[in-house]
Amino acid sequence: MAEVKAVEVKEVITEEVLEPSLDKELRIKRKKVVDPGFDETIKKLTPEKIEKTINAVLNLRKTAARFLAPLETCIHCALCSDACQYYISHDKDPTYSPASKLRLTLWEMIRRKGKVSPEFIKQCARIAFTECNICHRCSIYCPFGLDITYQIGMVRRILFLLGVVPHNILDQDNSQSATLNQLWISQADWIDTIQWLEDETRLEYKNLRFPIEKEGAEVMWAPLGTEPKIATYHVVRTGIIMNVAGIDWTVPSKDGWDSVNMAMFIRDFETMQRVVLGLYENCLRLKVKRLVLTE
Ligand code: SF4
Ligand code: SF4
Repeated sequence: MAEVKAVEVKEVITEEVLEPSLDKELRIKRKKVVDPGFDETIKKLTPEKIEKTINAVLNLRKTAARFLAPLETCIHCALCSDACQYYISHDKDPTYSPASKLRLTLWEMIRRKGKVSPEFIKQCARIAFTECNICHRCSIYCPFGLDITYQIGMVRRILFLLGVVPHNILDQDNSQSATLNQLWISQADWIDTIQWLEDETRLEYKNLRFPIEKEGAEVMWAPLGTEPKIATYHVVRTGIIMNVAGIDWTVPSKDGWDSVNMAMFIRDFETMQRVVLGLYENCLRLKVKRLVLTE
């Protein structure tokens, strides 16, 4: 697991031309973003590692339909552009259009058969992580049904495997990998927080309970990791609603209670599956009928 130290991530208001080694039409101007998850990690990359990682993910002999077909089918009609909030909010700058984001990242990787520079990888990280939130709107608008979002997601997968990920997201992913929750909350702290909040809330709602480990309950509630950590009033409100509505509910004591899946956003598929499995196994163990998530 990569070591992550607390650092300040800030935007520097100077313009830079991204990836000056590329052909002129592939260079774009952006405000500089300083993030150790980008700046420090690309220093450790070698061309061999980049090429090997890209080609392992793309595996074009088996995945041509997902990667090559969109590249050859896109007619650059721009119908997907108006679906994209980044394109709209940057005065319809074409370099923010969904098709451009692929042209500047994945499609160039495919054309070069993975032979791209660390600087190019940094440009991909800027685009895939800070200029697209994988909302899926563009994929719905494309008349050919090209799944742009899936492809940008696979750019994130390549970047994750190379370790070029925004610092804070990587920290949360590491936390999920180690604890199954996003904010390094220990099992003891989780239980302690629930019991403390129950005590506090009972000052006003006398018979209120936050039932931990109630086997056979109708509902298991899985909060976001931020709720017991920094937004405890959400836990209190959920408890009040459940009690006033007369819901037969419970929360698990074991790891696998956080419904956030930060791993999914960076396409850390391995951790992503473990997070889902943790929730599923808690439901199974407690024999509940429904899983209720905060969002
Ligand atoms: S709508 Fe489809 S075909 Fe048109 S530019 Fe977007 S991805 Fe390409
Ligand atoms: S998935 Fe990305 S490129 Fe597509 S509309 Fe959403 S933000 Fe824009």
